[in-house]
Amino acid sequence: MWNKSDKRRLSNKLAVLNCFDPWSSPRCTCEPKLSLDIYSGCGYECFYCYTSSYNWKYWGRHRVRPKQHILRRLERDIRQIQDGADAELASLADAFVAVSNSSDPYPNAPQANEADLRITRHALATVMRGSFRILLLTKSDMFVRDLDILDPARSVIGSTITTDCDKLARKIEPYCPSPQRRLAALARATGAGFATLCRIDPIIPGLNDAEKDLARLIDKLAAVGVKHIIASTLKLQPSSEKRFRERFSELAAAVAASYDRSRRVSGYYYLREPIRRQCMERVRALAVAQGMGFSSCREGFAELNTTLCDGRRLVRR
Ligand code: SF4
Repeated sequence: MWNKSDKRRLSNKLAVLNCFDPWSSPRCTCEPKLSLDIYSGCGYECFYCYTSSYNWKYWGRHRVRPKQHILRRLERDIRQIQDGADAELASLADAFVAVSNSSDPYPNAPQANEADLRITRHALATVMRGSFRILLLTKSDMFVRDLDILDPARSVIGSTITTDCDKLARKIEPYCPSPQRRLAALARATGAGFATLCRIDPIIPGLNDAEKDLARLIDKLAAVGVKHIIASTLKLQPSSEKRFRERFSELAAAVAASYDRSRRVSGYYYLREPIRRQCMERVRALAVAQGMGFSSCREGFAELNTTLCDGRRLVRR
């Protein structure tokens, strides 16, 4: 396992590849991996977004943009890892690379539209030229375009789908492709021989936590071949709570008391533990009943996980 100073030292040697979870969050159960954010900020404006607190400068539809010279800097990082001159970097030659966690790799914003820019496509091709394994995570269906450059044996395709209700999705994730399009894209990935996973994250009390809704969503995910569910409950910080109140004023007021305000964990207010545990156990039961793997993300319930939390066990090589 990398500790905080290992992560800092390694990330300082690289330009755009970073060690995942630089803060070493106490509830993160991820094994070591690298992360690659191709764009700065995000244009999907999900009300619950965690990244707006530290990515605020580029957060929003009209602010997201590609990282400067991202492809050239990525090439340099990979050359440094592959040339073996630095033993510590050389040990990363077959690392897992998460694309992306602090932004979406497939923005569709006016000034940053991956459909035209194809920067993510080139970046994925660059990473695939090495021996790295890719954990792709997105809210877009645009990844279908890039299946031809990804190796199914070394890649897992992940999609975040919080609800199968298009109307609700438009309110919580206004600029994302509809859940139906995301489900169809997952079916394409499965059909092309890729292992797929879904993040049902966040689960929001009173919006998408009802057992019948979760069961219907997980049935649909099973039907398109998803093998692993990662779930997490809504965690609040000032920026996401403000948006929550703006978009769901009555509900935000109603669930406010369900949050433990006595302390923050890694900057977030968490729902009270019994509520979170019951929710995670519910999703776990539904996933296991469909023969899927299950893990909870930063909930402090690692014992509920049926496999490694980020889906890396789905990678075949
Ligand atoms: S897609 Fe992810 S990074 Fe982008 S706004 Fe939504 S939650 Fe935030």
